[in-house]
Amino acid sequence: MGCCVSSMSAHSHRFALVTVVGVATAWQAQILSCSAGPVSARNVRRLLSFQRYLHSSRFIRGIPASNPLGYILDDDYTGQAKLMLEKVGNWNFDMFLFDRLTNGNSLVNLTFHLFNSYGLIELFQLDMVKLRRFLVMIQEDYRSLNPYHNAVHAADVTQAMYCYLQEPKLAETMTSCDLLLGLLAAATHDLDHPGVNQPFLIKTNHYLAALYKNSSVLENHHWKSAVGLLRESALLSHLPTEDRSERLGSLILATDISRQNNYLSEFRTHLDKRDLCLTNGRHRHFILQIALKCADICNPCRPWKLSKLWSEKVTEEFFHQGDIERKHHLEVTPLCDRQSNSVANIQIGFMTYVVEPLFVEWSRFSDTRLSQTMMGHLSLNKQGWKEGRDKQEANTSRASEEQRTSAAKDSNSKELPQGSKRS
Ligand SMILES: [Zn+2]
Repeated sequence: MGCCVSSMSAHSHRFALVTVVGVATAWQAQILSCSAGPVSARNVRRLLSFQRYLHSSRFIRGIPASNPLGYILDDDYTGQAKLMLEKVGNWNFDMFLFDRLTNGNSLVNLTFHLFNSYGLIELFQLDMVKLRRFLVMIQEDYRSLNPYHNAVHAADVTQAMYCYLQEPKLAETMTSCDLLLGLLAAATHDLDHPGVNQPFLIKTNHYLAALYKNSSVLENHHWKSAVGLLRESALLSHLPTEDRSERLGSLILATDISRQNNYLSEFRTHLDKRDLCLTNGRHRHFILQIALKCADICNPCRPWKLSKLWSEKVTEEFFHQGDIERKHHLEVTPLCDRQSNSVANIQIGFMTYVVEPLFVEWSRFSDTRLSQTMMGHLSLNKQGWKEGRDKQEANTSRASEEQRTSAAKDSNSKELPQGSKRS
């Protein structure tokens, strides 16, 4: 990271400056436009919140205000969405379809349904209107223009988290507080993701990188944004504070992929020693962290049709970052370089070095039908990408062979008339 910063080009400095100035201007314009009309107390709080300053407000991003509580949906669509929710614990759950059926409100509808079905609303005496508002704010603070890190990904991770919470070892031991935090962490774990990675934020001198001292920059931002929304909605303000915010943070921070090896070796050690005891609160929290990590990277363990779609979306986001880097003469991140990388290559690497090692251990911990299903999909999907890559490579080499042959023919046929002229 240090060398990235020290090798900052004049271009990248200029880029960072332009970004900040542009955003600041938009911010000033927003304040002016707000001052022209009635400003609610809630909006004032939003405008003054430091965490949300500059970057994280939907006002700046120009997302139009939506009707937060009423969705005008065709009865048929609502009926189909409700039918889908009856099978919300199914590993084949199609979040893309559910998002279409709910008119882009998958995160709100799914999380509300899960809170309700676990009885968390009654148990924690949650105000239904506050809960809806809170979920709508979360959903809106995901950037819908991100191909991958948007509210549909958050909904998908929340659904996967629910599937893991339903696994016998967890279902028998997790307390209502664990369930509440687990679902909240899943729904907010990528809140206000900018669609670029941490090294990009560091090399462009983004204010978030400075704020979090170049360490788990995105995850810290997701956590602090979630805490900001909890405070703003006052959803849990009637409950004792305890260590809720810290626990939420520790769950979200666990999704930092650069820390994966630490979690993995701790998990392995526990499994080797067989010393995990889920009546122990610290052990339950650790398993929640691992479950959230699994939920976050479970795309390759879904059925091929869904898995492939997620892969294409995440690669689109990576390549978009690479395009910005190229445009601004920054070093292009190899993973984000569309000129030297492909969806298949990225996926095979991701599955081999990140997903498989984690899910192998998860399957040791939770040896169930779901784990077998996930490992089965993972293996088939990896095979699918390998076959696709081999086919692609065979086509490319055939095409270049044909090109060479036709070029050779061309040069021969060009030489003949020349020779005939000479003769
Ligand atoms: Zn995520």
